[in-house]
Amino acid sequence: MNLIDGKLTSKEVRKDLAIEVEKILSAGGRRPHLAAVLVGHDGGSESYVSGKMKACEEVGFKSSLIRYEDDVTEEELLAKVMELNEDDGLDGFIVQLPLPKHISEEKVTETINPRKDVDGFHPQNVGRMTIGMPAFISATPQGIMELLKRYNIETSGKHCVVVGRSNIVGRPMSILLSQKSNHGNATVTVCHSRTPNIQEVCRQADILIAAIGLPGFVKEDMVKEGAVVIDVGTTRIKSDKTKSGWKLKGDVDFDAVAPKCSYITPVPGGVGPMTITSLLINTLKSAKGEVY
Ligand code: NAP
Repeated sequence: MNLIDGKLTSKEVRKDLAIEVEKILSAGGRRPHLAAVLVGHDGGSESYVSGKMKACEEVGFKSSLIRYEDDVTEEELLAKVMELNEDDGLDGFIVQLPLPKHISEEKVTETINPRKDVDGFHPQNVGRMTIGMPAFISATPQGIMELLKRYNIETSGKHCVVVGRSNIVGRPMSILLSQKSNHGNATVTVCHSRTPNIQEVCRQADILIAAIGLPGFVKEDMVKEGAVVIDVGTTRIKSDKTKSGWKLKGDVDFDAVAPKCSYITPVPGGVGPMTITSLLINTLKSAKGEVY
């Protein structure tokens, strides 16, 4: 069994990004700039956004945080998005999800200028990605593709089973893997909550990607001997062994499944670190005008 070390890979990619930033600066260019809009004080969102801001600092990007209280109106938030859309000093921005119930996430996502949509959630970017055009690709699937590439894991001709069909993970993941391109060319099956015999389907996977949000869902008898297992799940569960009182648990029953795998990602330290790094990759691509 080989561990796919997302933390290490992420460090390597960030080093490359820092070199790119230095090159831009020494050629007289402007420092890449990412902004994040955070609404409210949800613990998860706070820590994701602070991780993103720290990552910017690490590679030499400028970062800005724009905060609103929970009671911000949809109108106010949309006005800010429109202002950021026009800000020439910004290469990209994100609006951290989830948003309070009185604000339409769909409306906010659609209002973001696709050229600055470094989260890759805007329908224009999703559409471009789907037909293989240059696009900002959703950070988690893009991070997983980068891990597969860097670990030389062959996808061509393989059967990949993706469990989960969300717009930000499962669905784009399945599209990228089935694309007619390097590190695509896989035969992909997408499973979800209405899939019967899911154990049997998962057992057929050469590459199994679990993006569900149910800790320990993937058991040993659902995995073929020698399979590659990518665990996207990150659920906070109570723990008396950590200072915070919680720890992250993946969708895979790691201890039981790992011995059967050729490669597996741990949680934490697998897919997670690459997600933030992908956001940095997208911001640099935007700064260099590589997508639009
Ligand atoms: P989501 O929007 O809740 O989607 C979950 C998917 O799992 C849905 O498609 C759902 O099916 C499916 N599902 C739920 N129960 C199932 C069951 N019993 N059998 C089969 N499929 C089932 O979640 P998400 O945003 O994709 O996130 C998934 C997990 O990844 C979460 O733990 C999240 O925290 C984590 N995540 C991690 C990162 C990272 O950077 N590491 C990034 C994003 C997300 P239906 O469509 O039928 O409801």
